[in-house]
Amino acid sequence: MGLLTLGSPLSWDETYPHIDYIKKHGIAQFIMLYHRLKGRQGDQLKWGDEIEYTIIKYDHEAKKVRVSNRAEELLNRLRAEEEVNAMVGTENRFLWRPEFAAYMVEGTPGVPYGGLMACFNVVESNMIRRRAEIVRLLKKDESVLSISFPSLGAPDFTVPKSVVTPEDPDGAGRSIFFPDDAIFGGHPRFKNLVKNIRGRRGEKVCINVPVFKDTNTPFPFLDKLPVPDVDAERNAKPDHIYMDHMGFGMGCCCLQVTFQAVNVEEARWLYDQLTPITPILLALSASTPIFKSYLADVDSRWDIISASVDDRTAEERGFVPLDKNKFVLNKSRYDSTDCYIYPCSVGYNDIPLEFDKKIYQQLREGDIDEPLAKHIAHMFIRDPLQVYRERLEQDDSKSTEHFETIQSSNWMNMRFKPPPPDASEIGWRVEFRPTEVQLTDFENAAYCCFVVLLTRVIVSFRLTFLLPISKVTENMKRAQKRDAVLNGKFFFRRGLANCDTPPDMKKTANCKTPDNNDVVEMAIAEIINGDGHEFPGLVPLIRQFLDSADVDVDTRCTISQYLNFIQKRASGEIQTLAHWMREFVHNHSEYKQDSYVNDRIIYDLCKSMDDISKGISHCEKLLGCFRSKTEQLIPSAVRRAEESLIVGKALRKASAASKPSTNNTS
Ligand code: ADP
Ligand code: MG
Ligand code: MG
Repeated sequence: MGLLTLGSPLSWDETYPHIDYIKKHGIAQFIMLYHRLKGRQGDQLKWGDEIEYTIIKYDHEAKKVRVSNRAEELLNRLRAEEEVNAMVGTENRFLWRPEFAAYMVEGTPGVPYGGLMACFNVVESNMIRRRAEIVRLLKKDESVLSISFPSLGAPDFTVPKSVVTPEDPDGAGRSIFFPDDAIFGGHPRFKNLVKNIRGRRGEKVCINVPVFKDTNTPFPFLDKLPVPDVDAERNAKPDHIYMDHMGFGMGCCCLQVTFQAVNVEEARWLYDQLTPITPILLALSASTPIFKSYLADVDSRWDIISASVDDRTAEERGFVPLDKNKFVLNKSRYDSTDCYIYPCSVGYNDIPLEFDKKIYQQLREGDIDEPLAKHIAHMFIRDPLQVYRERLEQDDSKSTEHFETIQSSNWMNMRFKPPPPDASEIGWRVEFRPTEVQLTDFENAAYCCFVVLLTRVIVSFRLTFLLPISKVTENMKRAQKRDAVLNGKFFFRRGLANCDTPPDMKKTANCKTPDNNDVVEMAIAEIINGDGHEFPGLVPLIRQFLDSADVDVDTRCTISQYLNFIQKRASGEIQTLAHWMREFVHNHSEYKQDSYVNDRIIYDLCKSMDDISKGISHCEKLLGCFRSKTEQLIPSAVRRAEESLIVGKALRKASAASKPSTNNTS
């Protein structure tokens, strides 16, 4: 979840006097990095996923399930092994990192995947073995699930049992539901973030999720407060599930994919092209229909996380006139991006951007082009929340910490990641961030491979999916609605469009200006599978790309299973996890049609999900009947064959380029 620096974190009051200094130096660091690395060319496609897991513990006698706050213990062991491997020169197969909650861990592949098509066949196997690596450290009755736990903040939802301390003046969150002990304690960053968000905002965060109104749901539905609380009395809305801590959002699990572009131009271009795809994947991956043990009227976590880290003051939220703050801000720092960053795309930037003129000027004077300068300046309206006393003074030509502290706490649907200042093997990357984590490794692999293949299609066919960016914001809202995948309509481009210029920031001449007639509303099924006349569908486009690519038989088979699965999710032939969970609750004998999902139902639900995720039972409604041919390693013959094809292609290209032109320019 961003930068994990060592040092003594400053409180909000201690940070406040340094804000301008940090921003100025953060920008200076970005400018230097940009110019030093903007000429970097020819990085190959590399990519990797991040999966977050929830550690749970069953009480089989009482038929209850709780989150188990053992992440720190598990991580210490996993990371000790990682360090030993690094010391003896053995490649790590996985990397493990802390996440927000004391019951969460994040796992990534040990090294990123490369550009060979055969890599798509090792992803799922890596995920399977990654999961097994934590499982072997679990105690009796514990398990690990790649889900957002449905009872966060319900009474006594953790083991060991911990109490809330809303009155404690030194408490981090002061929640009446979510104890600070459920925050990961192994690094001071997380509690400090909670504290500083509350400090900056001037009150606790406030999350109201519309409750699902069932036949016996009280009308109006008034959420139960375990103790009287002034904030809750002021902020809890009728007919909503009320929550008051960062953990309700950041304690949910996500699935992210990062990929490296050949150069900075391609990274900026892909950032833009994938932005309109983010709401589609959010709807298609919907997995979070229950919050604090109540059925919600939304299917995903996005707005909940957004509100859970919303550090805007009352002035910035527009509740009181501006006085101490400079801007009214329409969005939380966790939300969808407000601007495209590739020069050709700027015609589609129809959201007015707030930014500090001085910061923008600093960027422009530092020779950062206008679209990128606006993006960075707009991110820098947010204050740093994580500053370390020992690290205020930095060499701006060597460090990017002040830049990263703001960049990594602008949690948007896409992230444009510059190379780190000190790791020469890492290039310009973009991160695709909206996807809800899936229950099984098959599904997680399918979603990741789908997104990466889509980037290949976009790059190869030079496709453009740009929409006015305000429509992406609107689509993000629609994507979270209950069963959006079945019933939602999303703004999308009517037909296929190409960008005729290669990614080159100087060539903006051929860029089209947006035409409202290009945009229509489509269902997810039409976007993914095609609408039968104008739009061919994202999966058929990927298939077309695969037909012209050199792919070994097993990889092709695996990819094909993933694509068929995605197509069936999109058409509604198989269910999203959110839909499946709702159905499970509705069919449970203890459910009283009152939106409340009691301990016993949650226990049965988790056990069923656990069995599916371990492959003990197969759920056709959720997964269809697919099986991939995933392998632990790329067979060396396949690797050699693919590599020689790539070399051959490059040679042919080079020799064609060196031949005299045969253009008929008589
Ligand atoms: P974040 O800042 O998003 O937490 P991480 O460092 O956790 O980023 O890495 C995200 C993913 O990026 C991981 O899956 C990792 O394997 C992958 N990755 C690492 N190096 C590269 C690279 N050079 N190009 C693309 N992806 C990479
Ligand atoms: Mg990470
Ligand atoms: Mg990430």
